[in-house]
Amino acid sequence: MSIRPFIAIIMLAVMGLFAAVPATAQSRYFKDAVPYPRLKPAPIKPSTLPLIVLDPGHGGRDPGAIGQNGLQEKTVTTSAANELKRLLEATGRYRVVLTRNNDSYVEHDNRIRIARERQADLFISIHADSTSGRNVRGASVYTLADRARNRSRRIVNSQNWIMDVDLAEQTDPVGDFLVDLAMRSTESQSEAFADILLSNLEGQTRLVGNSHRRAGYFVLLAPDVPAVLLELGFLSNAQDEKLLKTKAHRDKLMRAVRLSIDEYFSVSRRSG
Ligand SMILES: [Zn+2]
Repeated sequence: MSIRPFIAIIMLAVMGLFAAVPATAQSRYFKDAVPYPRLKPAPIKPSTLPLIVLDPGHGGRDPGAIGQNGLQEKTVTTSAANELKRLLEATGRYRVVLTRNNDSYVEHDNRIRIARERQADLFISIHADSTSGRNVRGASVYTLADRARNRSRRIVNSQNWIMDVDLAEQTDPVGDFLVDLAMRSTESQSEAFADILLSNLEGQTRLVGNSHRRAGYFVLLAPDVPAVLLELGFLSNAQDEKLLKTKAHRDKLMRAVRLSIDEYFSVSRRSG
């Protein structure tokens, strides 16, 4: 099943549940009139350009990995994300938001919040790796590991994020079932994008062995925004560090990302 009808079905189901909740119960979810990211009960998204949220890793007081010759991860990720933004906007096919566009520190949950509040269609966190083995080099792509799913569920509840499915939260297994459905759908989209991305990076840059990896990284935990974390290469490797310092190499990688985004959305539009 393609994703749009799927989301519509979930929304209809949830709007039904929502309508059944008495006003006093509803107000609990909107206490203090804080504009929580109120995601799924909102009207169906008007058809508009897909929104891509780019997340340059680290920043400000957090430099991330530091290369043998002093190149800081936050510098690489900021440059790459800004370059990718320009490439994407030049196509006229996407809206692009950065979680930060200068050397500032942004908390992890705010990075996810930016994507969720704006109902992003895709979230890409950009990083550069580091390891003790100085010969290890190459790019890799991470998606959410299965074992992180419960963590994602806990975060949804603890941060008062109003997922459609939360409205049924206290009732019963139906709520859990809908949470799982939404999360599984998001995960399969993330996996699909990761596969496309790796196939386009291959040939443009060296990939590390086992290049599609799964982890419980915090920025991948949004239950309703397809997300990947791209590691551009290893700063702990002198050759990767040298390459990542050059705009030409970063551009080559970012063009592969742009191409992957084109493919991903052309596939999802065809099936939707
Ligand atoms: Zn990083």
